[in-house]
Amino acid sequence: MEYVSTRGSAPVLDFEGATLAGLAADGGLYLPREWPRMTAAEIRELRGLSYAALAARIMQPFVAGSLSEDELGALCEAVYGDFGHAAVTPLVQMDETHWLLELFHGPTLAFKDVALQMLGALFETFLERSDARLTIVGATSGDTGSAAINAVAGRDRAEIFMLHPSGRVSEVQRRQMTTVLAPNVHNIAIDGSFDDAQRHVKRMFADPSINQPLNLGAVNSINWARLMAQVVYYFHSALQLGAPDRPVAYSVPTGNFGDVFAGYVAAQMGLPIERLIVATNVNDILHRALSEGDYSTGETTATITPSMDIQVSSNFERLLFDCGGRDGAAMAVQMAGFDEAHGMQLTNAQREGTAALFTSARADQDDTARALQWAYRNAGQVIDPHTGVGLHASLGALTAGQVVPGTPIVTLATAHPAKFRDAVERAVGVRPALPSRVGDLFGREEHYTELSGDYETSRDFVLQHASASAG
Ligand SMILES: *Cc1c(COP(=O)(O)O)cnc(C)c1O
Repeated sequence: MEYVSTRGSAPVLDFEGATLAGLAADGGLYLPREWPRMTAAEIRELRGLSYAALAARIMQPFVAGSLSEDELGALCEAVYGDFGHAAVTPLVQMDETHWLLELFHGPTLAFKDVALQMLGALFETFLERSDARLTIVGATSGDTGSAAINAVAGRDRAEIFMLHPSGRVSEVQRRQMTTVLAPNVHNIAIDGSFDDAQRHVKRMFADPSINQPLNLGAVNSINWARLMAQVVYYFHSALQLGAPDRPVAYSVPTGNFGDVFAGYVAAQMGLPIERLIVATNVNDILHRALSEGDYSTGETTATITPSMDIQVSSNFERLLFDCGGRDGAAMAVQMAGFDEAHGMQLTNAQREGTAALFTSARADQDDTARALQWAYRNAGQVIDPHTGVGLHASLGALTAGQVVPGTPIVTLATAHPAKFRDAVERAVGVRPALPSRVGDLFGREEHYTELSGDYETSRDFVLQHASASAG
C-alpha cells in the first residue's frame, strides 16, 4: 500500500516508511492512497474469528509490501494475546438499543493501549530489519504517556523520553508512567504546563543539535499505524451485532479525532456503519465544525474528561482531505489559513461529505454526570466520565433523529472507571477499584526526573541520557 500526505507535497511512502515517519515532511498526515474495499460476503466470512485473527485480516491490505501475512499474524497474536480480557474488546449490552464497547483492558486501562501496543511491536520489527535505533520523545497530559511507555518498555531498539507537566497529571496517571522501571524509559516532570511540554517536543524535532545525533520518533495519534489498529474493533463489534446484514451506529468520545476517524475508515472499507456520533465535552470545536462548519479554536477549559480537553484535533485534517476530494494543494492552503487565523470554515464539499456519516453532540459536566447515573441505574454499569460523554450523545441520538430506530448504538468505553475514580464517585456514589492486575500501583517504586521549564534543560537531558546517540 502506498501512503500520501494530506498536503500533497511530501514523498509517497510505503507502510514501513509512514509508520516510522509519523508526521509527513510537508506538515501533513499520511493516508493510504485508496481504501481497501470488502464485499458483504467477505465481511460475513470474518464472523467468529478471534480478535487477533480478525486484526490480521483487517490490517493486511494496509501493510502489504511491508509485512508478510505470517509476520503480521505473529505480531497480532503477540500483541492481542496479552490483554486483560480474552475477548480483547468485549461488548456489553445495556438495554435493547445501547451497548458499551470496552476498550480499556490493556495494560494502562485506556483505549490507547489497543493501538500503541501494536505500534511498539511494529517499531521493533522495522528497526530490527534496518538495524536502526529510535529515540521516542513525547509530551503527555495523562493517558498517552503511560500507554506509549508501556508499549516501548523493555524493547531493544527503542527508548522513550516522556515529558509531563509536574503536578498536573492525576496520581494514577503519573504512577502508571513512573513505576515502569525499564532502563529504556525516562520520565521527565517539567515545571510548566502541558503546552510547554508539547512545545519542547516539537522544538526538538526541528533542532539539529538533537535530531541529528539522535533518530527521533513520535508516538502521537497522527501516526497512521495507530488509526489502522483501531479500525479492528469497529469490525469486531459490528460483526457481533449482525453486520454486514445489519447497520450499527457508534458514539465516540472524541479529542484528537483519531478513534472516530478509525470508524470512518471501517465504513470506507465496507462495514455498514449507519452513523458516527462525535461526542465532545465543552471543548467543542468538533461539534461546532460538524454542525455549523465553523472550525475555530477557543480557550481550552479543564474538565472531568481531561483526555478530551483539546482545541485542535489533528486527525480532523484527514477527514477534510478525504471528504473534500483529496486535493493536497488546496488542503495545504486551507491549513495555512487555519494556522494564521486560529480558525477556518469548512468548504461545501467538506460539509456535505462529513454530513453523510457524522453527527455530533456536546456534553457539559452535568450531562456527563447524568449519563454515568443512567448507566449505573439502568444497566448496573459503572463507567468513566469520557465514556459518559459518549453515552450522553448516544442517549440523545434517537430523540434527535440522528439514528434510525432499531439500530444498535455502541458507545466506545475509552477508559476504565478506576482511572477517574473521584469524578465517578461524585456522580454515582461508588468508588471503582483498580483491576487486580494493576492493583499494587500505589505500592510500587516510582522513578522520574524533575526539570525546570526551559527548553535547553529538557533537550540536554535527552542528549545526555539517550543510549542511541551516534556520537
Ligand atoms: C485519548 C482519549 C480520548 C480521545 O481519543 P481521540 O482519538 O484523541 O479522539 C477519549 N477518551 C480517553 C479516555 C482517551 O484517553
